[in-house]
Amino acid sequence: MSEGHELAGKLALVTGGGRGIGLAIARRLAAGGARVVVTGRDEAALAAVAGELGGVALRADLSDRGSTDALVARLRDVGRVDVLVNNAGIAESAPLDKTDDAMWDRIVELDATAPFRLIRSLAPAMIAAGWGRIVNIASNAGVSGYGYTAAYCAAKHAMVGYTRALAVDLARTGVTINAVCPGWVETDMVKAAVARIQAKTGRSEEEARQSLASMTPQRRMIQPEEVAHVVAMLCGDGARGVHGQALVIDGGQVLK
Ligand code: NAD
Repeated sequence: MSEGHELAGKLALVTGGGRGIGLAIARRLAAGGARVVVTGRDEAALAAVAGELGGVALRADLSDRGSTDALVARLRDVGRVDVLVNNAGIAESAPLDKTDDAMWDRIVELDATAPFRLIRSLAPAMIAAGWGRIVNIASNAGVSGYGYTAAYCAAKHAMVGYTRALAVDLARTGVTINAVCPGWVETDMVKAAVARIQAKTGRSEEEARQSLASMTPQRRMIQPEEVAHVVAMLCGDGARGVHGQALVIDGGQVLK
């Protein structure tokens, strides 16, 4: 689904849809004809996106299981979710001795557990309808290892792992599930990483940005719209055979 209105009549839920990659995905799916529900924590940002796209904003803190369950309950009044994009996430980095239990739990809960719980809640209606699309925004840290990111890598590997496992369970239902694995994408998350590098190394902002961009053979950061393009492609009927995959979008950083 790149052009046209292939998603007309479909309801798409995008977590973390208020900014960054989630916002680009919400815009792209709406352009494809979907009615989009954006969820996240920033009520004002979500309301602005819903207003722009003629969609629905539902606030939820996905690191809180009660809040996630309340979101699922409120979604019942909106309609059946046909497309679930698990995008909300946090990235924190620390060496092993500073990766404490609280940090581990924060990252694993939001980046791995919450998306799984949403899939478990929302997939049954997709299965009953005989059509659905689940796209999990993981990371190239879900298919490779990087320094100071044990908790983040573990959570994103978990996401890729259950994407593959559930692909077997869902194979004959009309529902596809895939993971998308970006490298450095130009969003607030990267701004935070650049600020950390500046603070630790004394480099200028441009030097810090270049040190990240130079990790990839293309020597550039990915734009949020590039991730949205692949998500939209996965939502189209032409991609119904793409199932259980981890699609890396990182300018050739991870080569397998
Ligand atoms: P971002 O920080 O700009 O946006 C993250 C989104 O998640 C925001 O909308 C935020 O409100 C939401 N969120 C955070 N905590 C939440 C919570 N507790 N409950 C509900 N929503 C919450 O980041 P981004 O770069 O747009 O990242 C989106 C996804 O892409 C994340 O899962 C991230 O791990 C992944 N990713 C990003 C990059 C990158 O370089 N930016 C690279 C690989 C993967």
